[in-house]
Amino acid sequence: MEKLYTLKTVLSNLASEIKKQDFLVYFRKVSIVDINETVFTLGVVSTFMRDNLEARFQQQILAAIQKDYPTIEKLEIIVDKEIDNPSNIYSIDGVGFYKDTNKKSKKGVTNHNDPISMEQKTNANERYSLQNFIVGSDNQLAFSAAEAVSRNPGKSYNPLYIYGDVGLGKTHLLQGIGNEVIKKFREKRVAYTTADKYITEYVTAVKKRNVERLRQKYRDIDVLIIDDVQFLAKKEQTQNELYNIFNLLYDDSKQIVISGDRAPKELTELEPRLRSRFEWGITVDIGRPDYETRLAIIQEKAREKEFLIPQDVAEFVAANVTENVRELEGVLNQMIAEYELTSMTPTLSGVAEKLKKLSYTTDILGQTKKQPKTMIRSYEDIIDSVSKHFGIEKEGILGENRKKEFMIPRQVAMYLLKTKMNYTYERIGNIFSGRNHAAVLYSCNKLEKILKSDKTLLNEVNVIREGIGL
Ligand code: ADP
Ligand code: MG
Repeated sequence: MEKLYTLKTVLSNLASEIKKQDFLVYFRKVSIVDINETVFTLGVVSTFMRDNLEARFQQQILAAIQKDYPTIEKLEIIVDKEIDNPSNIYSIDGVGFYKDTNKKSKKGVTNHNDPISMEQKTNANERYSLQNFIVGSDNQLAFSAAEAVSRNPGKSYNPLYIYGDVGLGKTHLLQGIGNEVIKKFREKRVAYTTADKYITEYVTAVKKRNVERLRQKYRDIDVLIIDDVQFLAKKEQTQNELYNIFNLLYDDSKQIVISGDRAPKELTELEPRLRSRFEWGITVDIGRPDYETRLAIIQEKAREKEFLIPQDVAEFVAANVTENVRELEGVLNQMIAEYELTSMTPTLSGVAEKLKKLSYTTDILGQTKKQPKTMIRSYEDIIDSVSKHFGIEKEGILGENRKKEFMIPRQVAMYLLKTKMNYTYERIGNIFSGRNHAAVLYSCNKLEKILKSDKTLLNEVNVIREGIGL
């Protein structure tokens, strides 16, 4: 189909221009509604997506189109009601493109805690996929391993053991692997279960004296996924049974994927031989996502729910809700609930008020802070605290004076805006007396260099960061 071919070309052009995370969030589902001599009409799923694309990517999209279609002068973005027609869309899986076949099966989706049933492979919960998992530096390794395993079950890393604190995406990745394998290899049997559920299953089987049947069921699996194995603690018999199943599957080159809340070595209440089995393949941990990743996650979740979250609110939430991703989603859900009640778009001050009530504490450098921190609302808060810390008027920081006493605080403020708030160089330049992109870039790099050798200054920067909970 001509249109699909065109779409693919345009998206490939765009993919090289736009940050991968943004690309995955905003261009996952687009269509071509119409192309004529000079106007290119792009379809998106919602007004939310339209507004975002228009505000953020209009120029880049147009440029990407013009690469191959030089006569086009204008880009129009509209909501395409037909977009769910499967022949009309392509989904992006971050590497290449695949034809989207998921869309029709929404009805069959089960609660995400249900095991992916082995008999009804298609009944998998599709809410968690590898495509809608946002990758940042703290979960990159776990994600890559998950991808590798789903591409080549049983042949790359076996078992794959993923561990980390609660709410950081373990279940999401595990189910994502299951869904991906089902999609890629129709014939493979995938089982997702939690250790808890498995224990119940086993205990019931023992009671009913049909352990052999249970064993048989698991033996026939191609990809066995077991979530939260820490719950196997003290269940010696169940552990023993699992150990045997693992051996059978492993010897048969069947894939095993496991998650736990800590590293296998630290699961001291588990049988040593089971623990060491967990370590045979690859062990990867998931850490807390950094600011940039949190921001991308909240944008992705908002997009999934087709909810328009103002950029400053998204940034605020991402900067302040740092503990776990589930909390991040909780805050978003609250905003949506409130919006549905009052039809009011969330505002910065409203959300700040709410977070204060929940007294979210900010955690930097892995330390948990007991007291609620001051929360950053905008760049002004950063400049304020830099100004207070160094005892220099705000005007001095924002101005042009090139004396060292002004330069350093200025660079610190720019650096924090860039690295912690993810502001663009342009945006920072505008705040600082209209400096240009290159000047800001230079300042940030300069400071970064200084911080490498000047531990006192590094310490001061950290104090400022802690003070505002960045
Ligand atoms: P865990 O199993 O580690 O406790 P979950 O997988 O249940 O955590 O994640 C909690 C919520 O956060 C889920 O809704 C999940 O989709 C979301 N989440 C966590 N990490 C990410 C990520 N990197 N990208 C997108 N969503 C994420
Ligand atoms: Mg979980």
